[in-house]
Formats: sequence, C-alpha cells, structure tokens
Amino acid sequence: MENAKGYTLGEMGPLAKWDGKKFSRESLALASAEISFNRFPAGQTAPFVHDHKRHEEVYVVLAGGGHFSLDGELLPVKEGSVLRVAPGVKRAWKAGGEGITFLCFQAEGDLSKGDGIRLPEIQVDWQGK
Ligand code: ZN
Repeated sequence: MENAKGYTLGEMGPLAKWDGKKFSRESLALASAEISFNRFPAGQTAPFVHDHKRHEEVYVVLAGGGHFSLDGELLPVKEGSVLRVAPGVKRAWKAGGEGITFLCFQAEGDLSKGDGIRLPEIQVDWQGK
C-alpha cells in the first residue's frame, strides 16, 4: 500500500514468471490508471473481445509477438511495438509462435467503477494467424 511519502513500490518478478495476466491497480493503490502484466504462450488468444467506454489503452510488447484484432482488423505486433487503442475500439489479441509478453496501461476516468465491456458475442476470425 501507499506509504506516507505518497509512493508505492510493487514487484512483479522476472518477465519469465509472469504467467497469464496480473493487474496492479490494487497492489499499487492506483487511483486513475491500471497496468497489467501479461505473458502468454504461442497461439493463446484473449479470452474475450473487449472495449472501453472512457479509457484509452497502451500496449507495450516486451517479447515475442502476435496479432491484435482492432474492430476486426488484424494488426501484427512484435517486440518493441507500442499500440494505443482508443475507447470504442473492439479489441482482442492472439500470441504468435514465440508467445507474447506485454504491458497494458489504461487511464482516464474512475477505474474503481469498472470500465471494461466484455463482448462474448464477437468472435475474431484469426485467419490462420
Ligand atoms: Zn482493456
């Protein structure tokens, strides 16, 4: 939790141990932003397409790569790619052959009220990617 000096230090451990998705809002006591730490094996897809009402997201690919689906358009990403996604864009991702490790930052609005919108009715056509 935040100390009296107004900062919080979190530890996510080595990249190689980031299995799955870990959010940091609660552990860092974030008030207006969220950071998730993500590492997925080859071929894994996001469990659902989602959107945001008010929050923009920035994805930073740290290792591996894959594709993002952005309103159905497939965009390749690789280590070093930085992708900003505006509210209203329906998004999902799929890990490529080397898997994918990325950070996702989102900000604006009151995150405690929740902003994500799961869209299970939308299925991405990964076109064999
Ligand atoms: Zn999101």
